[in-house]
Amino acid sequence: MRALICGISGQDGAYLADLLLKKGYAVTGTSRNVATASNGNLARLGIVNQVQLVSMTTHEPDSVLDVLRKTEADEIYNLAGQSSVGISFEQPAETLDSIIGGNLHILEGIRRLGRPARFYNAGSGECFGESQPGGASEGDPFRPQSPYAVAKAAAYWLVANYREAYGLYACTGILFNHESPLRPARFVTRKIIATACRISRGSGEKLVLGNMAIRRDWGWAPEYVETMWLMLQQATPADFVIATGSSNSLGDFVSEAFAAVDLDWRGHTETSRSLFRPTDIAEIRGNPARIAEALGWKARHNLQSVVAMMVKAELENML
Ligand code: NDP
Repeated sequence: MRALICGISGQDGAYLADLLLKKGYAVTGTSRNVATASNGNLARLGIVNQVQLVSMTTHEPDSVLDVLRKTEADEIYNLAGQSSVGISFEQPAETLDSIIGGNLHILEGIRRLGRPARFYNAGSGECFGESQPGGASEGDPFRPQSPYAVAKAAAYWLVANYREAYGLYACTGILFNHESPLRPARFVTRKIIATACRISRGSGEKLVLGNMAIRRDWGWAPEYVETMWLMLQQATPADFVIATGSSNSLGDFVSEAFAAVDLDWRGHTETSRSLFRPTDIAEIRGNPARIAEALGWKARHNLQSVVAMMVKAELENML
């Protein structure tokens, strides 16, 4: 089996590549520019020489068509695009282009080439906006509250439209937050872990954060990529919410991180209004009941184990 992972250099791209290689797939991965891309995540997993890397810009239709034609992939996973909610407020056009255009050009490429490739789109729980009691489920209305979430909502409907209109095997995993040591440093969770670890080694700095009251549904990235593969193995394509079903506050995340390095967070943390977002959703939590029932998948890790694994990896990396 041949797989194409668009956005292989990212957190999920690297873990998915590792999973598919272990399953015996030939894996091709794309970066916008292979010559300048960071292969740090692939190198960290020890698989950089086991995948074929190609340059592709997902919002450039010719580039996409060319790669689809050459790779003849059986499964195509789109994990590429501007992936930060915070940055989407500063770069809304790039966010919309990369997410909506990226998915559109891949779907259109699959349709034009006419090969029976299966397509996975990395969607986002941000699309739902504020969570209802019980968490957001498939079919709940979208109320996106950032340019990122607007783009993910549009991409979700594009995938559904190509599935219904052209009969493509295409689906969206509606992913809630998932973390790992491969999370880029610009994301708040990795920033918390890295800063707490540096402080524990005597850096003397403060951890400066925005709204610590927000609640998110945090899972473990390596087990979330399992659902991407699982979803493409089904007889018929369907969209699923991928979440733990529990939420914790950012303050809980901070307190766990400092406790893991034997410190009390209170003496080491400050909040700054400048880090608050133009719109901040109080709680984003998913209801993973459908995937548990249909595919037998359930998150095995919770906030405590995710933080513990991230702290352990960060401290090892600092040696
Ligand atoms: P990353 O940011 O780690 O990786 C995304 C990859 O996309 C990057 O490695 C980069 O590859 C490429 N990319 C970045 N910016 C752009 C851009 N402007 N245009 C085109 N390509 C770009 O994301 P994750 O691995 O964490 O997430 C994978 C997917 O899952 C993303 O679509 C994300 O939005 C989605 N998702 C992730 C969640 C999470 O908690 N991690 C939650 C919900 C959804 P290169 O620089 O090599 O081109």
